[in-house]
Amino acid sequence: MPQYRVAWLLPISQPPIRDAWLQTDRGRIVAFGHTQPGDFTASDEIDLGEVAVLPGLVNAHTHLELSWMRGRIPETADFSKWIRTIIELKNDAIHGSVEAAAAVGEAVREARAYGTALVGDVSNTLGTSRALREQGMPGVVFHELLGFRGEDAAALLQEAKTRISNERSSDLLRHTVAPHAPYSVSPALFGLIRGEVDQDQSSRTTVHLGESAAELEFLARGSGPCRTSLERMKKWDSSWAAPGCGPVEYLDRLAFLDERVLVVHGVQFTMPELRRLAEIGATLVTCPRGNIRTGAGAPPIEEFFESGVRVAVGTDSLASVPDLNLFSELAELRRLAPALPARVLLESATINGARALGFDAELGTIDAGKRDALVAVRLDGYVPSVEEYLLTGIDAAQISWIAAS
Ligand SMILES: [Zn+2]
Repeated sequence: MPQYRVAWLLPISQPPIRDAWLQTDRGRIVAFGHTQPGDFTASDEIDLGEVAVLPGLVNAHTHLELSWMRGRIPETADFSKWIRTIIELKNDAIHGSVEAAAAVGEAVREARAYGTALVGDVSNTLGTSRALREQGMPGVVFHELLGFRGEDAAALLQEAKTRISNERSSDLLRHTVAPHAPYSVSPALFGLIRGEVDQDQSSRTTVHLGESAAELEFLARGSGPCRTSLERMKKWDSSWAAPGCGPVEYLDRLAFLDERVLVVHGVQFTMPELRRLAEIGATLVTCPRGNIRTGAGAPPIEEFFESGVRVAVGTDSLASVPDLNLFSELAELRRLAPALPARVLLESATINGARALGFDAELGTIDAGKRDALVAVRLDGYVPSVEEYLLTGIDAAQISWIAAS
């Protein structure tokens, strides 16, 4: 049974422990604590030295299948333009090719090298499941559906269920359905997806919500770039009437939201909307670096936390960020919200994501019985606050995995 000695242990479920020991056995955490002077040293004790050991991070929102788009879309202040570029690239021959599949495999390796232990992956094709399974990366693959014409809803859900039934799901790799966004999914399809998720109480779903000003305009008045692009793509449904409200109220009216929904982005949310999500018990996943690069704008991080909503963190895809390093998202969160305690930001990138994805019994904190998917971050010299240090931007070269099993 290996025993480790480390400079810092961050269980997340309790304050950091200086000069700590940790025991694992057959892939599980057994026990840990503070090293007392004169403590017995196990013969097989492994001294990891000046490192901080914490639970592997949770990327609660990414799109691995877009990995081949890395570096192809310039940063923009115009969100509609960004969306148009993504749609054009999805029609490119590379999308769905061997080259794109290779980029997914590389992205999963990269995520792990950056200390990621669990992903919430949004996929239109389910082409990412194989890489996740082969590399043993735990995750929920959200099979994302788009369809604004109500008449298409039943067929879209049926096709998605068939595709999911062809995938090998397991305790560590789960598949479910998810709507893309209110401007691309009909009320009928929202309803059918909700019904499908309700078949299994352990199931989760996710939705992009409150991302751009264009989405707000579409819901308030039925106009703007979202309407134009639906019409251009011949996806507009003339029976749809703008609800004349904000995105949270719209999905609330459709009875879509509950504690099993991961609401992604929320850049545009008002405080009452954030409080409503907190009341519902939904999780808000923020992707700050991507929001800035796509022109959605900087998310109001301090307001997110002030509202009481549970916040998790995602990178979004390599179409909008240069890498899948969650420590870089944490550094961005610290820049946007300098007054927040470091502890709550670290919770967002660990236990909050694990809970939202339904993996909190296995991952997200260092506690006896959980998996030993733990990362050791090398500390460079004297560190006055280890929690604060982890928000300064940690690179892959500083990260190694503890996996004795
Ligand atoms: Zn996304």
